Amino acid sequence: RADTAMYQAKASGRNTFRFFTAQMNADAHERLVMLSHLRQAVQRGELELHYQPQVELATGRVVGAEALLRWQCAELGSVPPARFIPLAEESGLIIPIGEWVLREACRQARAWYDQGLELAVMAVNVSALQFHRGDPVEMVGRILRETGLPAECLELELTESLLVQDGSGTTLNTLRRLKALGLRIAIDDFGTGYSSLAYLRRFPIDKLKIDRAFVRDLASDPEDAAIVNLIVDLGRILKLKTVAEGVEDHGQLAFLCERGCNDGQGYLFARPMPAAAFAAWLGSGPLLPGQPGQDCPPHA
Ligand code: C2E
Ligand code: MG
Ligand code: MG
Ligand code: MG
Repeated sequence: RADTAMYQAKASGRNTFRFFTAQMNADAHERLVMLSHLRQAVQRGELELHYQPQVELATGRVVGAEALLRWQCAELGSVPPARFIPLAEESGLIIPIGEWVLREACRQARAWYDQGLELAVMAVNVSALQFHRGDPVEMVGRILRETGLPAECLELELTESLLVQDGSGTTLNTLRRLKALGLRIAIDDFGTGYSSLAYLRRFPIDKLKIDRAFVRDLASDPEDAAIVNLIVDLGRILKLKTVAEGVEDHGQLAFLCERGCNDGQGYLFARPMPAAAFAAWLGSGPLLPGQPGQDCPPHA
């Protein structure tokens, strides 16, 4: 991209060239500043996890939570993951950050488990670098042992692009060894990457998370509705659970229920919350605003 910018800048004259260069320097500088703050944040323990419930649509039962990173930086304010995760990936910082996330999420899930809070699964995002560098199987196994979380309570969310970065069959091998620990594998943002039907059959996957982009305009966009239908059907055929991301209103909920999508996650049920708020929310019984169980008969 930098090359293209340069090329365009050169083509349109000297002043533009200077403009583009200055802009690129500013961007690069901003990224450097953010990266140095992020390094400090890791050392000072300024990262935090929030938890967002996943709800079984047919019953309204909370079946899991996704752990989502939050960074409240003293200097930069609150920085969204979409801005700092890519930086962490490029710099390699995602390795220690990702290990911290996994340990913290497992520790928290184990604590809730001990308190008798009903939460079947803790879902944790894993980035490509984490998966392909080092030994993710060793790391996950070690953290499960350290935290005492039963493996069947852990779900790893992997992206499609991560799965297709496979030259040699190592991805398949890693997935099999992860599955052998007893955990579950979900494909995150399904439908936005290099979807390949071949890998869905080949890889030991448990769940498809339908990307928010397809759920958003379900009511108004027949093509989005068709894609969601297709993914739910695909899940049923391949015996994979389906989870819809970004469920925000009752219209989307009704559509997903009717189609037989298994679970949903989104602001309609709850936003991501700090651990204490999540536990209070869970403990306070069925306060799902949608009461999805009522207008959605259990699916066969
Ligand atoms: P994701 O894994 O697809 O996570 C779902 C994102 O959708 C979260 O954004 C969540 O807050 C947001 N969301 C949930 N329900 C709704 C809704 O109803 N409406 C809308 N508009 N958004 C909703 P968030 O927390 O900003 O995270 C963004 C992305 O950053 C995540 O997408 C994931 O790819 C990445 N990320 C977050 N935490 C981690 C982490 O611990 N490790 C790694 N590797 N990536 C992470
Ligand atoms: Mg995710
Ligand atoms: Mg997602
Ligand atoms: Mg997403």
